[in-house]
Amino acid sequence: MTCTCTKNNTEFFRDFELRNFNTLKISSKADLVFFVKNEAEICTIFQTYKNAIMLGAGSNVLLSSNGIRQPVIITKNMCEISFRRDCVEIEAGAKTQKVSLEACNNSLSGFEFLIGIPSTLGGAVAMNAGAHGQTISDKLVNARIYDTKENKIITLSKEELNFSYRNSLIKKNEGRYVVLSAKFALEKDDKQKIKAQMDKNTEFRKKVQPSLALPNLGSVFKNPTLPDGSTISAGMLVDKCGLKDFHVGNAGVWARHGNFVINFLNCTSYEYLQVLYKMYTSVKEKFNIELQCEIVRAGEFSEAEDEIWRVIKKD
Ligand SMILES: Cc1cc2nc3c(=O)[nH]c(=O)nc-3n(C[C@H](O)[C@H](O)[C@H](O)COP(=O)(O)OP(=O)(O)OC[C@H]3O[C@@H](n4cnc5c(N)ncnc54)[C@H](O)[C@@H]3O)c2cc1C
Repeated sequence: MTCTCTKNNTEFFRDFELRNFNTLKISSKADLVFFVKNEAEICTIFQTYKNAIMLGAGSNVLLSSNGIRQPVIITKNMCEISFRRDCVEIEAGAKTQKVSLEACNNSLSGFEFLIGIPSTLGGAVAMNAGAHGQTISDKLVNARIYDTKENKIITLSKEELNFSYRNSLIKKNEGRYVVLSAKFALEKDDKQKIKAQMDKNTEFRKKVQPSLALPNLGSVFKNPTLPDGSTISAGMLVDKCGLKDFHVGNAGVWARHGNFVINFLNCTSYEYLQVLYKMYTSVKEKFNIELQCEIVRAGEFSEAEDEIWRVIKKD
C-alpha cells in the first residue's frame, strides 16, 4: 500500500510505483522514496540511509521490474535556476530542457544541445550528457557535491570532476558523490541565433530519435571507437545486423534507428535486457566489435539479468 507522510519535513512514500518517474515507463516499485526540496534534506537522508540512490528524470536508468529495496531520492523539486550576468547556477533537479530555454531567453549560448535531452541537471552532470557537438562539461565551472563517504559538502572544479565521453568522477564512483548544484559560465550571443540552433537541434532529433510517446532511455550503447581513433555509429552496426524491429516480449529495437529500445507495452526489465543482449552479441559476431552499454541500472535484478549486465556493461 502507498502512503504519504512527512519525516523531518521531507516528503516520502512507501511502496511507491516509479512508472511515471522513468522515461522507459518501466513498472518498478520502490520500498521508500524521498522527494527532496533542498540539499540539507539530501545530507540528512544519507546520514540515515548510506545506500540511498539518486534519481533525476530517470531518462538513462533501467529500473528493475523486481523493484528497488534501496531508498530512492528524487530531486525534481530542487530546481532553482539563477542567472547572474553570464553565469548560471542550477540546482540538481532542474529540467535541462527548461535550462536550455531560460539560457536562450537570457541571450546566453552553451546549452543549445540540452533542448532535446529530457533529463535533470544532476543526471546530466553525472552522465556528462552531450549532443550536437556540445556537452554539459564544456561550460561547467564547478559543482557543489555531497560526498556521502566523508559526509560533507565540497566544491569540485571541472578538472576534478574528470569528465570523459558519457562519464565523470560521479559515475565512476557510483553512490559516493551527489550533485547538489552546478555553476556554468555561458557566452553572450544573439538570442535569435541561439533559438535557431535549438530549433535545428530539435528538427534533427525528430528525424533520428523516437519521441517519449514511445518510452525509451535514449541511446543504449555508446558509439564505439575504432583502432584508428574514429567513432562509428552503434545504431548503424545494429541495423546492419538486421535487428530493426527485433522484439523480446514487449521490448524491441526501434524500426527507424538501431540504438533505441522501446517499451511497447509494459515491458519488463528482463525483456529489455534480452533485447540489449541480442544487439550486443549480433554486433560482436558480425563485426567483432564489443558495444558498451551507455545506460545505468537500479534495483533488484535476477541472476539472468545480472549475467546479461556483466556482458554488456564494461565501464
Ligand atoms: C529521448 C531521449 C534522448 C536522449 N538524448 C540524449 C543525448 O542526446 N545525449 C545524452 O548524453 N543523453 C541523452 N539521453 C540520456 C539521458 O537523458 C542523459 O543521460 C541524462 O543526462 C540523464 O539524466 P537524468 O536526470 O534522467 O538521470 P537519471 O536517468 O535519473 O540517472 C542517471 C544516473 O545519474 C545519477 N544521478 C541522477 N541525479 C543525480 C545527482 N543529483 N547526483 C548524482 N548522481 C545523480 C543516477 O543515480 C543514475 O546513476 C536521452 C534520453 C532520452 C530518453
